Amino acid sequence: MKSIIFIAPPAAGKGTQAVMLSSKYNIPHISTGDILRNAQDDTERGKYISSEMAKGHFISDEIILELLTERLSQSDCENGYILDGFPRNIKQAEEYEEILNKLNKDLGIVIVLDIDKEIAKERIVGRISCPKCGSVFNDMIEESMPKEAGICDKCKTKLKKREDDNAESFEVRFEGYLAKTEPLIEYYQNKNILYRVDSSLGKDITFNQIEDILRGSK
Ligand code: AMP
Repeated sequence: MKSIIFIAPPAAGKGTQAVMLSSKYNIPHISTGDILRNAQDDTERGKYISSEMAKGHFISDEIILELLTERLSQSDCENGYILDGFPRNIKQAEEYEEILNKLNKDLGIVIVLDIDKEIAKERIVGRISCPKCGSVFNDMIEESMPKEAGICDKCKTKLKKREDDNAESFEVRFEGYLAKTEPLIEYYQNKNILYRVDSSLGKDITFNQIEDILRGSK
């Protein structure tokens, strides 16, 4: 299967879609946000990651690329994977292609999840995620509530509110998206591998649109 890169503003649903695709097609979901949350240890690097993420700032390209290269070298990535949260700027996209060359892998396809800022902001408020498997729920949106309050449907871990899921950090992250990540749309459009999906209509409709793309891009 081709690898998939998701490009989307915060709370557009890339984590949700990535988890759904990963479980249906049995390819790994690689979330740089999750990798970074797991790297928040007591080292200087861990403390830097934790304080920058809480403010909604990007983590340095150097750290991201190091962690990602490590992850992509693992054997479960051989038959494709889903990238959620990477690349986030043109520099990362360019360096990613160099990594792919070294690992002898293809770029795959890029899916943009389009969403209105206000809808994304509403989603942030009720969002709760699983620290173990990355599944995302929302205790304010009927179709996205966990079956048992506060518990992950998939792996039964206690759900957590992310530290950066607040209105203030959302604004910083959204601005970061517009300034640094959105230019990637043109970058990948020029390579003819970009597809767009309306992500405001709920997770199942969004998922159907993505599957149509996967069928058409084989
Ligand atoms: P996400 O889980 O994708 O919403 O990412 C959460 C946070 O992790 C972001 O707000 C950034 O602070 C950091 N982050 C994740 N991926 C990247 C990346 N590719 N480049 C820089 N920072 C990142």
